[in-house]
Amino acid sequence: INGSWNQRRPTPIVASTNGVPFLNPKSGVMIKEIPLGMIRRPLMRTRTNDPAKVKELMESIREIGLQQPIDVLQVEGVYYGFSGCHRYEAHHKLGLPTIRCKIRRATKETLRHHLR
Ligand code: ADP
Repeated sequence: INGSWNQRRPTPIVASTNGVPFLNPKSGVMIKEIPLGMIRRPLMRTRTNDPAKVKELMESIREIGLQQPIDVLQVEGVYYGFSGCHRYEAHHKLGLPTIRCKIRRATKETLRHHLR
């Protein structure tokens, strides 16, 4: 019975829905709810979302919640998002205050690579 419970509810999701950030000490990856306004999206203006995809995601997220956190980089205490654009917009349009993120710590050098 324990095995099936684990399969349905992966550890990182359980921890983050409790409001407690989950840190995997091996990979240094953390799953956490972050306010939308705290995530900088430097490429937002140059990339356009598919409105139909956003609408579908809004319906699904409203029904079953976000199933896959978006990836963000944490550089010197600041969060940067480069992907997960449709999930981000869906959250924004649903008026959700936070979005579940998979956070990876990175250097300014890594950030520069993403900005190129
Ligand atoms: P994005 O720009 O956010 O990555 P995509 O349309 O390319 O948008 O991908 C949507 C992603 O959202 C998929 O990886 C899917 O697994 C994930 N996802 C997370 N939560 C949900 C949900 N509730 N319903 C549908 N897809 C979801």
